[in-house]
Amino acid sequence: MPNKAQTLTAGRAASYDVIVIGAGAAGMMCAAQAGMRGRRVLLIDHYPVIGEKIRISGGGRCNFTNIHSDATNFLSQNPDYCRSALARYTPRDFIALVERHGIAWHEKKLGQLFCDDSAVQIIAMLRAECDRAAVEWRVPCSIETVRRESDVFAVATSRGAVRAASLVVATGGLTVPKIGASPLGYRIAEQFGIAVVPPKPALVPLALGPATLERYGDLSGVSIDAEVSCGDGRFRENLLFTHRGLSGPAILQISSYWNGGDLLHVDLLPGLNASAWLASERNASAGVASLLSQRLPQRFAQQWTAQFSSGPQTAGPIKSLGDKRLSEIGAALNDWSVLPSGTLGYNKAEVTLGGVDTRQLSSKTMAAERVPGLYFIGEVVDVTGHLGGHNFQWAWSSGFAAGHAA
Ligand SMILES: Cc1cc2nc3c(=O)[nH]c(=O)nc-3n(C[C@H](O)[C@H](O)[C@H](O)COP(=O)(O)OP(=O)(O)OC[C@H]3O[C@@H](n4cnc5c(N)ncnc54)[C@H](O)[C@@H]3O)c2cc1C
Repeated sequence: MPNKAQTLTAGRAASYDVIVIGAGAAGMMCAAQAGMRGRRVLLIDHYPVIGEKIRISGGGRCNFTNIHSDATNFLSQNPDYCRSALARYTPRDFIALVERHGIAWHEKKLGQLFCDDSAVQIIAMLRAECDRAAVEWRVPCSIETVRRESDVFAVATSRGAVRAASLVVATGGLTVPKIGASPLGYRIAEQFGIAVVPPKPALVPLALGPATLERYGDLSGVSIDAEVSCGDGRFRENLLFTHRGLSGPAILQISSYWNGGDLLHVDLLPGLNASAWLASERNASAGVASLLSQRLPQRFAQQWTAQFSSGPQTAGPIKSLGDKRLSEIGAALNDWSVLPSGTLGYNKAEVTLGGVDTRQLSSKTMAAERVPGLYFIGEVVDVTGHLGGHNFQWAWSSGFAAGHAA
């Protein structure tokens, strides 16, 4: 039974055309687009500060898109789902918006675009777009219940009841809980019978077990240009040793493809046939470690080579090693197998893999096929980008698609 206060609040429920839950990247983009179509939009967020993930992104400069972003940069159980939205609102469209707001930007590498000055400019831009579209805000405001009553959504919040024909869920993933992440979006999906692909941390550093850490843990800070592969993923970027395991762009990327127990395959000399190189040096008086130091950081070369010390003669000069041994070492250089012991979890992850199952959503509008008026956008959905600006591009593209339909 509702108490008297609840009944009064329900009686006064403010009505909107669209309620957006989550004032992050996707939610603000969607709210602004819907508002500009003349829809009355309410944007709700439970965290006191809007756009916190944007603020901390890209080392404070927000890698806001990637000029090469297309469906091949995303993981999903439904790989084609993201195509339509990405084609309708492209990196070029977002760059045009950034430029209209006078935000200076640059390409860092591999098509990754960053603000010259600060990620805060992107938040201010989205806020200004929402204001121009007369979006109303309730921040901070927590969601208590969401119900469907005939053809509207009734949302009970800590600041009163609100109603709208369209409800857009833009609550993001589970990473960095201390700045507002919550599983509310998944719960709303489940409440309406929409499946959720089990979420897990992605773009996340990987931990190494005690034995491997004992060998490599003191290399913390050393980085190597490597090609790392696992399952269907293969990335050539920097690999960084940390005091807990492995990080750097190559590891963050491959973490999205790593399932507990999988081996990582690390090519330490990408583009070079290491066996052939060692064979060409077979008369050298140097040891293996000192030869490797020509191409790899010295401390790593020493520690990596030590793993062969139980084998015959590896500590001696190269000319004392047989062809077979050199070929084994060469093969291991091009395919160093590493077994991570786990990930560093949601506190250190950039994104959440999995989420609301897109097989029950429209790829044109992001609407739930069987629940008219209910939309899911951004990271809460089972669409996860590679590192490098793709996740924000998905937030903009999916927010734009829903903003033109809700
Ligand atoms: C450290 C870090 C760096 C990153 N750098 C980049 C980068 O440079 N480039 C890139 O493309 N991606 C980057 N990402 C990923 C990117 O930030 C996200 O993919 C993107 O923000 C997702 O947008 P979203 O709107 O779906 O979710 P979010 O931006 O996370 O917004 C979700 C909003 O929903 C609100 N919310 C959650 N639960 C509730 C609730 N129960 N009630 C009300 N409101 C709720 C949250 O407070 C939040 O404001 C980074 C992520 C992290 C953690």
